[in-house]
Amino acid sequence: MLKKILIANRGEIAVRIIRACKELGIETVAIYSTAEPDALHVQLADEAICVGGPRAVDSYLNMQNILSAACNTGCDAVHPGYGFLSENGKFARLVNQCQLTFIGPSSDMIDLMGNKSSARAVMMKHQIPVVPGSDSIISSVSDGLAWAMKIGYPILIKAASGGGGKGMRVAYDANEFESAYKLATAEAKASFGDDTVYIEKYIENPKHIEIQIIGDHHNNYLHLYERDCSVQRNHQKVIEEAPCATLRAEVRQSMIVDALKAAAAINYTNAGTIEFILDQDQKYYFIEMNTRIQVEHPITEMITGVDLIKEQIRIASGFPLSVRQEDIQMRGYAIECRINAENSFHGFQPSAGTIETLVFPGGFGVRLDTCIYPGAKVTPFYDSMVGKLIVHGNNRMECIYKMRQALEEFIIVGITTNIDFHYYILNNPEYVKGIFDVGFMERLLRELEKSEK
Ligand code: ADP
Repeated sequence: MLKKILIANRGEIAVRIIRACKELGIETVAIYSTAEPDALHVQLADEAICVGGPRAVDSYLNMQNILSAACNTGCDAVHPGYGFLSENGKFARLVNQCQLTFIGPSSDMIDLMGNKSSARAVMMKHQIPVVPGSDSIISSVSDGLAWAMKIGYPILIKAASGGGGKGMRVAYDANEFESAYKLATAEAKASFGDDTVYIEKYIENPKHIEIQIIGDHHNNYLHLYERDCSVQRNHQKVIEEAPCATLRAEVRQSMIVDALKAAAAINYTNAGTIEFILDQDQKYYFIEMNTRIQVEHPITEMITGVDLIKEQIRIASGFPLSVRQEDIQMRGYAIECRINAENSFHGFQPSAGTIETLVFPGGFGVRLDTCIYPGAKVTPFYDSMVGKLIVHGNNRMECIYKMRQALEEFIIVGITTNIDFHYYILNNPEYVKGIFDVGFMERLLRELEKSEK
């Protein structure tokens, strides 16, 4: 088993990984920026090293300093968490060159699946349905127009290196194409340093359904069912559920078979997610694969009882998975609300400040993965997510009641959060009925705006 792990991340996920390491008897090294020397992950780790200034490029993305920290503290592995360097093939390669284990798949795998256009090609090769679209990246406006004509409008222009909903633009007809193309490429260049884009048919109001898989170095591939991540704003997830309450059993089965086929075909090692969109007839299409742990992994842990971070560490240590497929039963239902420091009722402006008063919710089946504590500072430098509130119950309705209660109990004074906004969604009749797709939030926000006028 690995002995000492550097966690190349911050916030709640760094805390989550440290906890798993402690349970496994593994020593931990935290990294931090000068903006947050008192962060919770710094306090919980056995050692902590400052790797640079407040801006992420100077610290949490500073490969050289992070690798020096890992080597100088005698670590044997690096866990990248999600975001930051977690899907950076170059970083994974450098980690290996320093004779350290990268807790994730190989760097070549990250490069292959990290480029969404090449990931599509891999899936097509293995007969996994992808959204109808271009064969590969678009070389010019005229090339794009030709593809769009072939695919049929509306189309979606997507950044090959995209993530976090960035670098995506819809064109409803040929007149809109050029400006959508320019916006998508410019945003892709600014966000990912790569302006290559490809085109997909724009599926109207789909659901976002993803299958959690894990694979080890002994050719074992397991699935842990699906998550429904359709409650999104600007293509970013806000609430996630497991399983999907409206997914037909035969469709679920088929998605699972395809996800496992994909994992085995590429000899995937690590926890991974195969993301699909599901149209209104429950036809599904692959959109991308995430080669890392995901924000929403706890809901899968709650319904399956499998600790995904521990499995990641076991896999990276060379051990076989600790569970077999027949051990993984779907037990009950789980919902996660992402708690963000933002003003949801006023344009979702990020909020910064010091936590003054804090009351955590609790009770049977309530889990809170967070990095805040009384006195903690929420700075403007990083993602606004400060925690994840997760509930587990026998069924979806029980989870909704539990989540409402947990949200009511949750008090954070010092910053503005989206707790009230979650409460509003959890009381929305459509949401409660389970009738929602990726357009749900936008419609809700439009209604809210109208009612305010
Ligand atoms: P990112 O990596 O930036 O998160 P994804 O490819 O995972 O991008 O897509 C994010 C979200 O964008 C999806 O969950 C879905 O809501 C929407 N989306 C992506 N592709 C399509 C498509 N072809 N048609 C309609 N919506 C899409």
